[in-house]
Amino acid sequence: MITDSPIEVLSGVGQQRSALLGKLGIKTIGDLVYFFPRYIEDRGKTVKIRDMRAGDAVCVQAQVYVPVQEHFVRNNMRIYTMLISDETGVASVMWFNNKYVKNVFRKGDIYRFYGKVTVKNGRREIVSPVYENVNSSLHTGRVVPVYPLTENLHQKTIRNVMMEAVSKVSGNLNEYLPQNIRHKFNLCEINYAIANIHFPQTEEDYEIARKRFVFEELLLFQLGILKMRTQSTTGGIKLDTSDCGGFTGLLPFSLTNAQKRVVSEIYADLSSGKAMNRLVQGDVGSGKTVVAFASIYAAMKNGFQSALMAPTEVLASQHYKSACTFFGEENVVLLTGSVTGKKRAAVLEKIKSGQASVVIGTHAVIEDNVEFKNLALAITDEQHRFGVRQRALLSKKGETPHVLIMSATPIPRTLALILYGDLDISVVDELPPGRQNVDTFVVDLSMRQRIDKFIEKNVMAGRQVYVVCPLVEDSQTLDLKAATAVKQRLEEIFPQFSVALLHGKMKPKEKNEIMEKFASGQTNILVSTTVIEVGVNVPNATVMIIENAERFGLSQLHQIRGRVGRGDEKSYCILFYGGEDKNIPERLGVIKQTNDGFVISQKDMELRGPGDILGLRQHGLPDMKLADLFSDMKTFRLAQDAALEIMRSDPGLEKGEHLFLKEKLNRMFSDVLNGNIVG
Ligand code: ADP
Ligand code: MG
Repeated sequence: MITDSPIEVLSGVGQQRSALLGKLGIKTIGDLVYFFPRYIEDRGKTVKIRDMRAGDAVCVQAQVYVPVQEHFVRNNMRIYTMLISDETGVASVMWFNNKYVKNVFRKGDIYRFYGKVTVKNGRREIVSPVYENVNSSLHTGRVVPVYPLTENLHQKTIRNVMMEAVSKVSGNLNEYLPQNIRHKFNLCEINYAIANIHFPQTEEDYEIARKRFVFEELLLFQLGILKMRTQSTTGGIKLDTSDCGGFTGLLPFSLTNAQKRVVSEIYADLSSGKAMNRLVQGDVGSGKTVVAFASIYAAMKNGFQSALMAPTEVLASQHYKSACTFFGEENVVLLTGSVTGKKRAAVLEKIKSGQASVVIGTHAVIEDNVEFKNLALAITDEQHRFGVRQRALLSKKGETPHVLIMSATPIPRTLALILYGDLDISVVDELPPGRQNVDTFVVDLSMRQRIDKFIEKNVMAGRQVYVVCPLVEDSQTLDLKAATAVKQRLEEIFPQFSVALLHGKMKPKEKNEIMEKFASGQTNILVSTTVIEVGVNVPNATVMIIENAERFGLSQLHQIRGRVGRGDEKSYCILFYGGEDKNIPERLGVIKQTNDGFVISQKDMELRGPGDILGLRQHGLPDMKLADLFSDMKTFRLAQDAALEIMRSDPGLEKGEHLFLKEKLNRMFSDVLNGNIVG
């Protein structure tokens, strides 16, 4: 296939350009032609000089009247000016420090110039125009693609190279969208689409091409997600849930209405005879754990095993402890990376024999050598920490077990539909009674001393304090340094208090010990990198200080804030921010204004874009290049239906018309799926 050829086969691509294009992830001709413009610009209409109006971006066709003159301005600054004319007048064009233009133009040559018009002393001028000889029309005089570029790579360069590539592949691409789908959704053919996404004759042509690729992107994305689900909608163990009322008797409180509703939704699934496939969304602190336990209770009553996988050891051991009180220590095991040797062997044996009805753990649960007797329910907590693949592995530990996924922070429904397209969604949209709002303050560093006083006052009153430090550019070492410095400072100013440090590099056992001490009240102030973000519950902690809050996403801040306000005492969250960016206080203000995780995640998505929130890369999913989840939501729904239809009619993508589609999918998702999800 021509698309597999390296870009070096193009006449315009030598070593240097190949390296620049490589930076953009472009290695083959196929990569190149799928590198889409960010937008197009209509430079097709040319105006007369007389009609150049200040502020407009125009394309003007004119003669060189007075060729380029060089002016020295300051040390390193040179200006190049030129006068151009047509029958309606004279205008000037100007470049800074671009000595190359000196030798381009001769008097009388006719060029097109494109750029924004300014008017200076009555003279019309374009600064740094794009220019092109009238004999060609690639960069002006037509609808022109504008690409998202990297340093030292110019629009003109990539346009030239792209033109060559597109004409090479034109007519040679295999259509991978099934014909019935193309017809049903009125999508153009692939060769036409590639030609017109780059070099359309009109804006309409571009839109036709774009429509196809947006649809295609969303369709492939959905298909990929559906493909990764091992979940079958048939099969599934039918559980009798009629006799599960006893569960509420085990609780020290009564369920909220939202919890009751969600539990009954789950019970309906469990007893339906079909495998459950459900996402439980709910704000921080809405009590999702209890919902999970209610489901486990049902499985256990029916004589089946359940597994609950949590992203950290701290959270797993916390769940383990609660589970022991609910289900009896003899029925529950904890399996994490730090359970080793004989102890581990014993745990594995209990899981295999079925003696353990409830298995709580971390990733350790999905390791190869963990065998269940009869796993009927697979739960993942704080799902965003797990890849799609890990979830699938957990399900594989049983025969089409019921699957329950609990979200960490709520995500907007639109996004939930994308990532969990075919899951049923339950929402715990109510907090347990007595929950108070956490008073939140967004402060700069000038408030440091007042906040220190505030910490002191609270600790003296018997409360506990969290101080959370952000991730420093993915470097755990730097993280640790920053957090260590914070801890040392606090120890110096508060020698009377006990300050502890918790960070990502610690051994799980050490982490647990530190958490225990904090939970039992022996530690007054816990400084931590983001490890505590996840699910811990210490009701006596009432103050949350977040350092460099500007480095966190809003949803993450909300999640962290959710660690306080868990008891009866009034709680506070203080967001310290640094940096000059004026938008920071405003952005952080969202956290102050609302306590509703759904609102916050919606805002977060608007500000940072869905890719960041979903952590597409983190999930091992391809980024979306063209589709915009706001404006393309309608298309997304259609693509989702189409994906479901394809999967229903041909789950293995074995049919002839799906051959190229399957190939395309395998390529796109090869990262996650090691090249073999499909078929
Ligand atoms: P999350 O939804 O963030 O996982 P948790 O399940 O950790 O929340 O619950 C937070 C706290 O609320 C826990 O201490 C839990 O015991 C408590 N809780 C849960 N449900 C109720 C309820 N109905 N009434 C009172 N407290 C509850
Ligand atoms: Mg939780």
